[in-house]
Amino acid sequence: MSYRFDTRAIHAGQPDDAVTGAVTTPIYQTSTFRQTEPGVNKGFCYARTGHPTRSALEENLAGLEGARHGLAFSSGMAAIHAVLSLLRQGDHVVSTQDLYGGAWRIFTKVFARFGIEFTFVDTTSPANVEAAIRPNTKLLWLETPSNPLLHVTDIARCSAIARGSRITTAVDNTFATPVLQQPLLLGADIVVHSTTKYINGHSDVIGGAVITNDDGLYEELKFLQNAVGAVPGPQDCYLVLRGVKTLGLRIERHCSNAELVAKYLLAHDRVRRVYYPGLVDQPNHAVARRQMTRFGAIVSFELDAGIDETRAFTRRLQLWTLAESLGSVKSLFCHPATMTHASVEPDVRRSVGISDSLIRLSVGLEDVRDLIDDLEQGLARTAGVPHSEEAVA
Ligand SMILES: *Cc1c(COP(=O)(O)O)cnc(C)c1O
Repeated sequence: MSYRFDTRAIHAGQPDDAVTGAVTTPIYQTSTFRQTEPGVNKGFCYARTGHPTRSALEENLAGLEGARHGLAFSSGMAAIHAVLSLLRQGDHVVSTQDLYGGAWRIFTKVFARFGIEFTFVDTTSPANVEAAIRPNTKLLWLETPSNPLLHVTDIARCSAIARGSRITTAVDNTFATPVLQQPLLLGADIVVHSTTKYINGHSDVIGGAVITNDDGLYEELKFLQNAVGAVPGPQDCYLVLRGVKTLGLRIERHCSNAELVAKYLLAHDRVRRVYYPGLVDQPNHAVARRQMTRFGAIVSFELDAGIDETRAFTRRLQLWTLAESLGSVKSLFCHPATMTHASVEPDVRRSVGISDSLIRLSVGLEDVRDLIDDLEQGLARTAGVPHSEEAVA
């Protein structure tokens, strides 16, 4: 019987414990398992290779994306590392250009050293993807909505282009979560998550996941997971399983709060520009409508102010916490130019549109009226920049 999303979130991979009847998946805190005979491996043998709490999580994560296979990692970066490790020296990757800063860093500063080549393009236009493909292109890396500008890429069209050239498509689905967007159903081959964010959702664990329907890719990724060893322990797996049970419920409220915050900012005269895929004036809003059920809870905006005034604004907010990360019950915000995207070279940063007055909000689950009141007091005292001064900056 195939259950619907909220049922799968609570039941997939989590039958009542066979030994004790515990209704919650136990934390099997052990590094190794007794074997019945030397060299005969039924079930679990060593906890890097697998353990029951992780298996429960992996089955659950696969279930969320409606997929056959899930693999859990110790971080989102470890999950990205596993997917990139499918490649060989001389292979080429086409990637979304305004992507998560850590993904940019591992592509350009780690994998580039091993002879893997990257071309970063504006994937919001599928024609750019097509034009960037070379004979040695093996992977298309998409992040949508992107970080921090919430640009939307058409997953179905881009993965169709990739498939035509026998290129694997991987989508970082961290921002949307499987509640809002299911890339495998749109034609992608691999989904990556930082479970640190919405899937766990409570800012108390670092984790990652890779999900696929492709048996061959799964076997290779599973081999890499064990060979590299960036795996989560039982406590972390338990926490993610605990968080995931309320994912559907949380995302609905996250989206409702974010929609109201975006509308509020749009109407504010100290705000120059709002980035939120749910606003009708956004590029690719129609694509967002087609491939997402709602538009998520990350809202970015540009203050009508220079860098100093933007920094002053960040100090004024009281309820919103200035922090890296996103996707938590608690509302967080950051200044991408000096925080999440500080590792991206300044000229690259500006060329992709990450200005010094950009603020990224991760709208949490507090009462949205309190969130807006806090923005209101912060913005009310934000002075506009005299244009001559801005010209100097
Ligand atoms: C946070 C994040 C990552 C990295 O995940 P970690 O769990 O921090 O290693 C990757 N992609 C996106 C979109 C993220 O937000």
